[in-house]
Amino acid sequence: MNEAYTNNLLMIDLSRKTHEIIATSESFIADFIGGKGFGAKLLYDGVSPGTNPLGEDNLLMFLTGPLTGTMAPAMRGCVVTKSPLTGIFLDSYFGGSLAAEIKYAGYDGIIIKGCSEKPSYIWIRDRHVEIRDARSLWGVDTLLANRLIKNELNDQTIKIATIGQAGENKILFSLICCEYNRQAGRGGAGAVMGSKNLKAIAIKGNRLVRVHDPANFKAACREAAQELEKSPDVAALRLAGTASAVEFANEAGLLPHKNYQYGTFAKASKIADKGQSKHLWLGSNACMGCPIRCSKIGAVRTGIYKGIVTDIIEYESAALMGSNLDIHDIRAVAHLVKLCDLYGMDSMSTGTVIGFAMEACEKGLIKSPDGINLRFGSIQGAEYLIHAIANLRSGLGQILSKGVKQAADHIGYKAADIALHTKGLESPAWGPRGVSGMALALMTADRGGCHQRGFTVSYELSGAWNNHPLDPLSPEGKAQMVAELQNYSAGTDTLVKCDFGSFGISKETYARLLNAACGTQYSPDIFQNTGERIWNLVRMFNLRQGMDPAEDTLPRRFVEEPLTDGPGKGHRISKKDMAYMKQEYYKTRGWDENGVPLDKTLKQLRIDYVKSD
Ligand code: SF4
Repeated sequence: MNEAYTNNLLMIDLSRKTHEIIATSESFIADFIGGKGFGAKLLYDGVSPGTNPLGEDNLLMFLTGPLTGTMAPAMRGCVVTKSPLTGIFLDSYFGGSLAAEIKYAGYDGIIIKGCSEKPSYIWIRDRHVEIRDARSLWGVDTLLANRLIKNELNDQTIKIATIGQAGENKILFSLICCEYNRQAGRGGAGAVMGSKNLKAIAIKGNRLVRVHDPANFKAACREAAQELEKSPDVAALRLAGTASAVEFANEAGLLPHKNYQYGTFAKASKIADKGQSKHLWLGSNACMGCPIRCSKIGAVRTGIYKGIVTDIIEYESAALMGSNLDIHDIRAVAHLVKLCDLYGMDSMSTGTVIGFAMEACEKGLIKSPDGINLRFGSIQGAEYLIHAIANLRSGLGQILSKGVKQAADHIGYKAADIALHTKGLESPAWGPRGVSGMALALMTADRGGCHQRGFTVSYELSGAWNNHPLDPLSPEGKAQMVAELQNYSAGTDTLVKCDFGSFGISKETYARLLNAACGTQYSPDIFQNTGERIWNLVRMFNLRQGMDPAEDTLPRRFVEEPLTDGPGKGHRISKKDMAYMKQEYYKTRGWDENGVPLDKTLKQLRIDYVKSD
């Protein structure tokens, strides 16, 4: 049983300079499968209420799933911690090949606690675990740090997770760069790593990942690959990555323009796939084991940014650093995103923070620094702010480094009215005013306003979900859809699959892959059921950490300002609609009217032990 697991978690205590291997129990694996499930349980058990996310008691975990490192398509890894940006649960996913290397070294996950006395990095080679001096790497950007560590260890095949200067400076939306172009981007995991004085983790393993029934597993992999090939979304992804969504979102009126004052952008095509292929792309690239190859490697070929080597500017970055700031030159967007990558800062949150600052400047809430144009469309202003935030330079850089929620609180007056976030996580690039189910998903997402916890847009715009007709503008009938999508997403995030690399793959095929790998007999409902258990456990974690259910809400702009353009013109998500959807959702989930899981719900899910806390 459970051949695909290593059945080991590596726990490293940076304060004590010790490490130990913790064996995973069968019940832990059966209840939580891997990835997000493992993270939810370990965080609930290991992080007490009131723990400072930037203190030594917070846990920083790099977790894999049972299919990571196998031939199953598009498997990744995830980082789980208590977020310094939101103060609640954070799971953030990374592609590439780092997660597989963790398995090859003999671990299902790495848990880091404590804080190193001086800048350090961790070097793991199978059972060899060493905490090494990183003082010479402190102050170095993500990509250079990666190269220097490989040179120091004299092995270019090592896989590395590192922070940049933003993580060192504890910018609350800093990220962890996994190898060169894959990041655990959202929620500030980079700041947690920086707070532990941990510059990087370097890892190399020699173990094979076994599966229980190789022949059946191979057949299931073939089935998954065939399902992927049949999906029309995969063809679009292969051609143009997620950049192909820019024009779709623009036509649907969901594209952020000028800090979400508008939902369309007249120059959208310039930052979309056609604009990118004209100026940037050279060839395709993939995460380990992914047949889609949605990533493009490129370089800016003309203009003042000529020579910048870049990855594809995926949808969220193109929208939040492009249309959201009224910048249409994709070469400039590539330059701004590259700066964020080098500093190790989430380009989504950074784009939203800069959009907030530009609108605040235009509304007279803040002043432009001398010689800087901070109005929409200013590439110079955006670049200035990226440097100022990452280096905590100037008062404005320091204020914005805390994210839009805290920045708005600091600025005061009407700044909160233009701060786009839910629970402190900056809003993603899918404006929900024309799709009320997406609004409910953002309101209730477990890590704050996130579009990847129940993405309803395609169902709502096609007018049907599970053969039920859907009106995208109506609040009716959205709760069941959102809860089921969230459960399935949490359930399959235990495998740590890529959201895009799962297009078209059925739950039956995922169950077959899991069973063939682990020797289990799960039905395809395992993902829905385990996802529901995880969702409720995370809810209890968040409530215990002080989250107020009143924060299950939307930014004021989406509630009080109707869309002025696009198909949803004139629509907003009113307070009445929000209250209606929220109560329907709580009821669907088996929560009370205040959003607290009922005892009987926790009992059904076999997590009623959380009630005794
Ligand atoms: S679909 Fe793209 S992001 Fe996902 S695993 Fe494949 S190459 Fe990586």
